[in-house]
Order: sequence, then C-alpha cells, then structure tokens
Amino acid sequence: MKGLVFLGDRRAEVRDFPEETPGQGEVLLRMRASGMCGSDLHKYRGPAAETSFPDNRIGHEPCGEVVALGPGVTRVRVGARVMQHHYLGCGRCRYCQMGYQQLCSDTKFKKGYYGGSLHGGHGDYMVCNERTCVALSDELSFDVGAMLACGSSTAYLALTKLQVSGRDTVAVFGQGPVGLAATMLGMAMGARIIAVDPSEKRLALARTAGAWKAVNPNDGDSVEQIKSLTRGEGADATIEAVGIPLTRKQAATSARIFGRCALVGERGQAVYEATPDIIHRHLTIYGSWTVSTFGMEEVARFVVDRGVPLQDLITERVQIKDGVEAYRRFDKQDTGKMVIVWG
Ligand SMILES: [Zn+2]
Ligand SMILES: [Zn+2]
Repeated sequence: MKGLVFLGDRRAEVRDFPEETPGQGEVLLRMRASGMCGSDLHKYRGPAAETSFPDNRIGHEPCGEVVALGPGVTRVRVGARVMQHHYLGCGRCRYCQMGYQQLCSDTKFKKGYYGGSLHGGHGDYMVCNERTCVALSDELSFDVGAMLACGSSTAYLALTKLQVSGRDTVAVFGQGPVGLAATMLGMAMGARIIAVDPSEKRLALARTAGAWKAVNPNDGDSVEQIKSLTRGEGADATIEAVGIPLTRKQAATSARIFGRCALVGERGQAVYEATPDIIHRHLTIYGSWTVSTFGMEEVARFVVDRGVPLQDLITERVQIKDGVEAYRRFDKQDTGKMVIVWG
C-alpha cells in the first residue's frame, strides 16, 4: 500500500508499505479521506535533522471504514464508518475517560500520536486503537468526517469556550482550514465574523463562507481595522488560528474591554504587555487544544442539525499518489481545506 512521509526541509515522499494487521484492541481502517492540517506544516518545514519518525505515515485527520478487527475489540464492528481521534492514551486515567487521550496522565503508558509517533491517515490503510474511533453519521461524507477529525472540531471547541452567541462580533485571525471553519461555525452559532488573513484568496473563501467583513493586514494595522468596524471598541471575542507572536498579540488587543480571546494556533511564543493589553482591559484568554472524542461527536451533530456546509471549504481533493505536490501547494497558505481522498 501507498503512504506519505515527511523528510523535513519541505520534502515529502510517497512510499510503499507492507500490509499491517490489527493487534489487541486495534482495528484496521480502509482510508476514505485524510485531511491536510496546518499544524502538519511545522513538521513539513522543519529541518531534516530534527524530523521525528521520518518513516511513519503522516496525516492526523483520518476518516474511513473499519475492515478488520484485532482480538478483544468490542466497541466497533466491521463496516463501521469512523472518524479517528488521533491520540493514543492509556484509556483509564481521568483525562482519557473524558475523551481527551491527548492529555493522558499515566506516566507509565507509552502515549502515541497517529500521524507522528504512530502511522497516520495518509496511507491506503491504517491500524488504530478502537478507543480512537468515533462513529461518523451517514449524513456526513468521509471528507467532512476528516475535517471534523481535527481542524473543524478545534475551531468549534474554541468557539464554545468563548461562549459565542448571536450577541457577538468575533474576529478570527487566520483563514486557513481552522480559521475558515471557525468563521463558518461561528456564524452558525449566530455571531458576526470579521475574518483576518493576508491572503486575498483565503479572504475570498471567508466571504463566501459568510464572514461579515474581511480584514487584510496588508491594508493597515489589523487592530485598527477591527476597531473601526466595531465603533472603536474592538471585537467581543477573538480567535487566533495562526500561531505567531504578532497575531497572538493582536488577537488580545483587538478584543474589547471585558472581551474574550482564544488561542489555538500552535507553537512559538506569545508576548503581551500585561497591564495595558490584558489586566486593565479585563481580558479573558483561553487556550484550546483540539477536542475530545465526545466533543467530536457533538460537533458532528451540530454540523448535521444546522446544515453547516463545511464541505464548501474544501478547495482540493487529491489522490495519495499526488501527495508530494499537494503539500507543496498547501505550504503556500493560500488554499482552502485540502483533503486526500480514496475511491
Ligand atoms: Zn490538526
Ligand atoms: Zn490516560
């Protein structure tokens, strides 16, 4: 079977892998869709010498069909359509039982990350623990399931932490796949969205998704632009889905007094002036890291019940054999969602 690996320094490779069989508590998925997530770009761009697990298939938004069961599997059956929650924890500690295997607190358990320390979704097949499988409703396509496996659910959880409602104007920094999903889901929760991104292509996608206003930092300071759209006060809530110090600071300073801000873009630093930026403005800052298995189910229900057209954010569906070229395009950060698909 074919699979995609990252070698560092913006190099990727499609390789042949031997067939794999599920072990105790594991299932074999036939992959049907596997999302490309912005956080994969850190690894893609990183130096070759620092690439961890260069022989493992990447892809941490897997969605597919269960085709074989290992011994002891009780929760899923052959033929089930599933989204895969890409973290492996002990399954017994408090956080694992809450569905947050990424927060597993059992120090003796060897934690895993599908698409990193364990083979991920960018391959024809994938073996994973049955605990990581979340049922995909028949009303949702596999490619939307892949979006929900990380990026779109990450956006949803941040919006729920901010308790976004129809009273809010929300500024979303970054209109990559996570930011675009935040724009669309935030609107479905009733909010008015200000989309911020330096790419006109991405701002066009945000407008199509229904953003109220689009702000390009190349047209002037984003904070000033957001304030001028909000009677000088700032947004009620902001989301940072980029992951660089400048936009983290702007996400704080473009929120109004008593406003809320959520950080989801990963890595690097955040630098604030504590008193003028946060304390004297009574700002609440949330951190939010992906989602739980139960949270993923909730987002999927919300998307079905409210008819949120997440699939409209997909600008490219590609085959695994074209994965190398696909990441080259994704790296330019002006695409919408890109998904590797099968069949
Ligand atoms: Zn992700
Ligand atoms: Zn655990």
